[in-house]
Amino acid sequence: MSNLHRESMSFREGVDRMVDRATLAAGLDPNTAQIIKASSAVLQVRFPVRVRGGIEVFTGWWSVHSTHRLPAKGGLRFAPHVNQDETEALSALMSYKCALADIPFGGAKGGLMIDPSRYSVDELREITRHFAQELARRGFLDPATNVPAPDMGTSAREMAWIADTYKSLYPEDVNQDACVTGKPVNRGGIPGRTEATGKGVQLALQEYFRHPEEVAKSGLNDGLTGKRIVVQGLGNVGYHAAKFLAEEDQARIVAIIERDGAVINEAGLNVHDVRQYLAEHGGVKGFSGGSYQEHGSKVLEMDCDILIPAALESQIHAENAMHIQARLIAEGANGPVTYEADEILRRRGVVMLPDVWVNAGGVTVSYFEWTRNLSHMRFGRLQRRFDELRGQNYASALEQMTDTEMPSRLRAEIVRGASELDLVRSGLDDTMRAAFADIRDTLKRNPEIQDYRTAAYVIAIRKLAQSYHDLGLVEAVD
Ligand code: GLU
Repeated sequence: MSNLHRESMSFREGVDRMVDRATLAAGLDPNTAQIIKASSAVLQVRFPVRVRGGIEVFTGWWSVHSTHRLPAKGGLRFAPHVNQDETEALSALMSYKCALADIPFGGAKGGLMIDPSRYSVDELREITRHFAQELARRGFLDPATNVPAPDMGTSAREMAWIADTYKSLYPEDVNQDACVTGKPVNRGGIPGRTEATGKGVQLALQEYFRHPEEVAKSGLNDGLTGKRIVVQGLGNVGYHAAKFLAEEDQARIVAIIERDGAVINEAGLNVHDVRQYLAEHGGVKGFSGGSYQEHGSKVLEMDCDILIPAALESQIHAENAMHIQARLIAEGANGPVTYEADEILRRRGVVMLPDVWVNAGGVTVSYFEWTRNLSHMRFGRLQRRFDELRGQNYASALEQMTDTEMPSRLRAEIVRGASELDLVRSGLDDTMRAAFADIRDTLKRNPEIQDYRTAAYVIAIRKLAQSYHDLGLVEAVD
């Protein structure tokens, strides 16, 4: 999954260009766009940690792109390639994503330059705790202003370490749990957060396929059943997206691309088995449930209905965009399609469901977790038994009035009070649907805009401009 290719602009510049394009398309004020594009702060820290008897110095960033709503929110990435440009680009995407999904947060992102596979769990804990301390002491980590979450190379485990570090520094903060999201469920997390981004990818695709006139734009038809899908990256996002699409929508995952190559099976791969094999062997080579192809980049160009890039940014770029054969691209990763590739693909009529919509599931459920932490109560605690009782009364009333006994499965469905996971999934589904309704509405109102990404950016920019205007920072939004 190399991204060593020639591109005329950086990731950050590419994101800015997308803002410019949307600004122009919607006739918004270019000065407003200038203000929106600018990051409000970038913190760079270097800190020494004692590892294996020696001292190693680590470099990390926290970029705050917007603070019109607080806290500023975004993932914390642990990867060797992390740099300031990438962190800033990703923090800008967080602002647009939150605005589009109606999540009342600003946009931020963090990164630590590290290859986590080179360190033991104890060492990683030590390094993470140091990084969290650096952020907290400088005011870049707390429930009110900057709240990280899992991203590439981090998971609930790192979030638990960060929360623990914050708590030891600020034991008097009654909202300390809310300083980070994506925590383990028994440490202030919320059910459904780990699966959330992948689940959101599935829900976005389900929503897209509910609208035949939209589906026709990609030249596809009907629903997701039997659709041939290629997934790049079987990390948290790719795995959950592929698993749900295969198990619940009967889509066929015909190829999975990983670091060491790809596995292909026209009959559909068993996603769970591939993930298991990957965890045990560190790669997909040798997996018996499919044929192995060493050149993953070639498989990205394979004929399929839907391509889900769920790995790194800039995987579809100026040099391979011409060869992509998928009809529809659902962006599970952040920024998987470069600005130049986006232009090429649009010219070729390939439909892209943009990252700011498709992968908004993670931050959406982070919002639920943060709210839950501030309320100090799990969702549904007050209503669940009451709903159950009301369901029982409905069922009994129906039975009495019709003099018929209700089939027990139907009765069980009616009387069931929602679990917290039910509520989280319902809220996530609603968010994904509402965002696509806004995108479609924007396309209808602006016939000169032809693609979903520009429409999504127009919505986000308008919302950001409106709140900057409310603060007296920019002219009125037309
Ligand atoms: N890392 C995720 C993203 O890029 C989630 C961020 C969050 O939950 O704050 O959207």
